[in-house]
Amino acid sequence: MMEAATSPDYLLEVRGLRKYFLIHKGFLRKLVGQVRAVDDVSFSIERGQTLALVGESGCGKTTTARCIIRAHAPTAGQILFRTDADTVVDVAQLPKRQLRPLRRQMQMIFQDPYSSLNPRKTLLDIVGEPLLVNGLKNRQERVARVADLLRLVGLQPEYMRRFPHAFSGGQRQRVGIARALALHPSLIVADEPVSALDVSVQAQILNLLQDLQAQFKLTYLFVAHDLSVVKHVSDRVAVMYVGQIVESAPTEALYTAPKHPYTESLLSAVPKPDPRLRAQRIVLEGEVADPAHPPSGCHFHPRCPYVLPVCRTEPPALEAIAPGHFVRCHRARELTLRGVGS
Ligand code: SF4
Repeated sequence: MMEAATSPDYLLEVRGLRKYFLIHKGFLRKLVGQVRAVDDVSFSIERGQTLALVGESGCGKTTTARCIIRAHAPTAGQILFRTDADTVVDVAQLPKRQLRPLRRQMQMIFQDPYSSLNPRKTLLDIVGEPLLVNGLKNRQERVARVADLLRLVGLQPEYMRRFPHAFSGGQRQRVGIARALALHPSLIVADEPVSALDVSVQAQILNLLQDLQAQFKLTYLFVAHDLSVVKHVSDRVAVMYVGQIVESAPTEALYTAPKHPYTESLLSAVPKPDPRLRAQRIVLEGEVADPAHPPSGCHFHPRCPYVLPVCRTEPPALEAIAPGHFVRCHRARELTLRGVGS
């Protein structure tokens, strides 16, 4: 489905995205409720840039990512994607048969490099599969292309005859990246790509992703559960809580001058070299709210250290408080919150 053009700078523009999962119960599968996993989420990503989508487990960030690549069918909203042919399509509305050519342009890197690679296939099969499916039938050409891709991600081409178990977590994630790059995508959706890796390996993979972005002008949607990982790799950050974006801003502004109390608490958990600053960690009380029964008013109010009576009854809107800086909080303009230095 062709759509009214968005700004040519945007590769992806998400408008009012919702994904509700219905809850059925009993023998007759009676509908008893719904989980609002993603509830009116909007954002855009410029070509060649990285947006980090951050929040605790269960906040809806992975569901958002999966809607964008249409692993989930959205309940409502638009996912406007600028194709290689420079037309804008609404991925949310496309029938399945029209999605296939588009999947080449949108690829996903998964969280767990141990389970995302088929253990019975060699690297040649794993990385070469998307090439084969998309018409590169000639085996020699496929071998040559897989060798190039392995080199690109820092692996020796001789490894292509080996199976995934022969590799470390970091190497496996490199294989996942090579596979994602095989078809020259423009958008990479990376779902916590380093959270299953040792800290020492995380930096190597993040550097690789940045190098590849610069080389191929890739656009990233980078999903993460804390803010420490994404600081140096993202141009913008959007923080999610119970299915909604509560703050989004250019990275520097969000880290140094957060305007939402939830962002402040996430920032307080970012590791700091100074031990005196480490003691300032804000430990939120309670658990992330249940998206099947979100709290009234501001969903964050049961855990918020700055709560006012109005917060318990009136849902705050997402408002611009500076150019490109959006916040969902009644007190966004009056609170001075603690960030981290640049
Ligand atoms: Fe806290 Fe109220 Fe702001 Fe919600 S609206 S984040 S409860 S101050």
